[in-house]
Amino acid sequence: MKNTRRQFLIMSAAGAATLSLNNLAHAQAMVAETDPQAQALGYKADTTKVDTKKYPKHANTQRCDNCALYQPKGAAAGGCSLFAGKQVAAAGWCSAWAKKA
Ligand code: SF4
Repeated sequence: MKNTRRQFLIMSAAGAATLSLNNLAHAQAMVAETDPQAQALGYKADTTKVDTKKYPKHANTQRCDNCALYQPKGAAAGGCSLFAGKQVAAAGWCSAWAKKA
């Protein structure tokens, strides 16, 4: 009985550790410019590479890290509510950019 409980606790701890690692891996995955959602929004990891003919309102001063939807998670990347479970580049941009208040 005692052994079973102990085994259960060990298994639970192992499961929790695996889940944490999975979450970490998801948190660190970067959005690729080739992702369908990224393509639909004209996302670029480098704002200076944005096609200004296609997006005439774009300016190089517009970056993910000064966008209202950006959730900083370090100097180089952060979360964005449009790309759940992935990270966008701090220096990135997409057509949904909105000035941070
Ligand atoms: Fe970057 Fe803002 Fe577009 Fe998200 S909505 S990808 S933070 S510019």
